[in-house]
Amino acid sequence: MAEPVLTVNVVTPDGTVYNDQSALVICKTTGGEVGIMPNHIPLLASLAIDEIRVKKGEDRFDEIAVSGGFCEFSENTLTVLASAAERKEDIDVSRAEQAKKRAEEAIVAAKQKHDDAAMRRAEVSLRRAINRLNIKKN
Ligand code: ATP
Repeated sequence: MAEPVLTVNVVTPDGTVYNDQSALVICKTTGGEVGIMPNHIPLLASLAIDEIRVKKGEDRFDEIAVSGGFCEFSENTLTVLASAAERKEDIDVSRAEQAKKRAEEAIVAAKQKHDDAAMRRAEVSLRRAINRLNIKKN
């Protein structure tokens, strides 16, 4: 008998980034890691700036960088609504390295000016860049 699967949809304001079926999806929510298999109980959770891993075979996962957002699971469909998301193969490393450098410079500038709001924005930018670089490295 075929293995049961769930549908995964990753959607951003620019459109659908990923749409496939899988027997296991691992999401990093702000409350911790969640593994979702078919017939999991309904779930609504906020996502960390991290990756989503979609099992595609023995020891093989599709990896998607997610810059925060929400995931909702019901009726065997996992919908991820993210402000930005990229499949591992679509991540532009030099762009992420430049974004990391800009964010690090912005953190230094915000510290000097004691600008807390600018500091928080720069820290989030830095996390997005590091997340993309980490996913590409794996
Ligand atoms: P940048 O300063 O390089 O734009 P950012 O973190 O501010 O980085 P976002 O606002 O998160 O960028 O994303 C804007 C758009 O650019 C989104 O569509 C996102 O998927 C895409 N994007 C951002 N960085 C990368 C990257 N390194 N590789 C591929 N796509 C990226």
